[in-house]
Amino acid sequence: MIRKKFIAANLKMHFNVAEASTYLHNLSKTLTSHREIEVVIAPSLVAIQPLSREIDVRKIKLAAQNAYFEDEGAYTGEVSFSMLKGIASYVIIGHSERRIYFHEENDVIAKKVKAALRNRMSPILCVGENITERRDGHAKRVINDQITSALSHLTEEEMHNIVIAYEPVWAISTFGNEQAMPDDVEKMINEIRKQITYLYGEKVAESVRVIYGGSVKADNVASYLAIPGCDGALVGGASLNYLEFNKIVQSCFNVMQS
Ligand code: PEP
Repeated sequence: MIRKKFIAANLKMHFNVAEASTYLHNLSKTLTSHREIEVVIAPSLVAIQPLSREIDVRKIKLAAQNAYFEDEGAYTGEVSFSMLKGIASYVIIGHSERRIYFHEENDVIAKKVKAALRNRMSPILCVGENITERRDGHAKRVINDQITSALSHLTEEEMHNIVIAYEPVWAISTFGNEQAMPDDVEKMINEIRKQITYLYGEKVAESVRVIYGGSVKADNVASYLAIPGCDGALVGGASLNYLEFNKIVQSCFNVMQS
């Protein structure tokens, strides 16, 4: 099965509506579309609706950075997946900043995965161990637990819409900014597919896209994209500059051609 490459920009809590619109405009002008690569940007929730009116989804798709798992109700300050239906194609779920700063546990993440799928959005599920878990030799167990709790209650059909981002916490610029070695990333990507195989069988595991995230930049992305089984990248800090993000997409194309 051919898995389309996936390059996503997590803009985090940067850019107001006008700035996000300028970013989209500049990126759209610069980016060369490649049929084999899906390009996604995740702006702030406040910018996502105005951007949905400007965006050419054949070139760039929108992702939400978060949403609440109930469809509606007395949940002051929250925005539901059902409110984002038809606006965002993807949604980032289980990002380490949400797990750590906002104490999102695996059970909440599982409910968010379900809510996203119920509302026709594809989850970008982030999994990854912290530095202590890695040093103690628990990295594989941690990601297997994260995957099992978030995904084991889905149908095979639903599984085809999942993108898994392996994001070791210590490699994300927010927390550690350490450079993950491609060999280590490859082992973890293999482990992720092994766990999906265990849960849903080989066919599903081969169809699910697994991407890497953690201090990805234009000058290192090729080393991750060259990993067999790595289907793309989730980019934080480096995506804030549309020229740098464009170079990352271009680099993905170059790796595919080589
Ligand atoms: C992220 O936030 O998902 C991420 C990978 O961030 P950065 O690229 O800045 O490490």
